Amino acid sequence: MAEITKNEALVLRKTNFSDSSLIVELYTKEHGKISAIIKGARSSKSRIGSKIDTLNLVEAVFYHKEQKELQLVTQANLISHFHNIKSDLERVKYASAIVELILKLVPEKDANEKLFRGVVKSLNLMDKENSQPILHFTQFFMFFIKEIGFELSFTNCSSCGNEINNSDHNAFSYTDGIVCGNCNKDKLTTFDFSTELFELFLCLTSKNKKLSYKKSDLENIIFILEKYIIYHNSDFKGLKTLSIF
Ligand SMILES: [Zn+2]
Repeated sequence: MAEITKNEALVLRKTNFSDSSLIVELYTKEHGKISAIIKGARSSKSRIGSKIDTLNLVEAVFYHKEQKELQLVTQANLISHFHNIKSDLERVKYASAIVELILKLVPEKDANEKLFRGVVKSLNLMDKENSQPILHFTQFFMFFIKEIGFELSFTNCSSCGNEINNSDHNAFSYTDGIVCGNCNKDKLTTFDFSTELFELFLCLTSKNKKLSYKKSDLENIIFILEKYIIYHNSDFKGLKTLSIF
């Protein structure tokens, strides 16, 4: 049985199909990540085609068949096309990295409304005029890691369980997460935190609005989170978007 459903959806990717159709990958609020076909979307008469572009947030009407590989989208209304993101290369880079994380690490048809809300919130933040895209992306990345089941402990060493002390020589182990200075000695693949960097890492998890940071520190945090996922998911080879821009 097909069910007609209206869903908020982020367009992750679109590919031309046959003479005038499109195949799209959508991240939807109620059905998670799905693939869909939009028939005739590339014809000049199509009312849907112009609304379907990567990084557009739409309200999509589709016939949902659970067992089908491709859903059929029949209508789409534009909610946001994130104008400010698309007119700035730095914002495009980090917004595309969010899309890449979903494409590569979120399983098909795995609905997660909290994650969906987080994606939309981060894109809205990046779209604001005085946006700091790298900061919004780093915060999103930490939230994302938790949502896909790799939550990090910031209070206790992930190896010995002792409480983490800020002034200690803490490190990030790509296999275990945050480890204390003592355990760091036994680990082979670690990244040593400076006190300043560890402080920033902690601050990113709080809702502290006034955050001061160096861009290179955020780049280091993104780097270690990427490595952490690579160690836990052999299919993931890192974020291409961040290296091509
Ligand atoms: Zn330890």
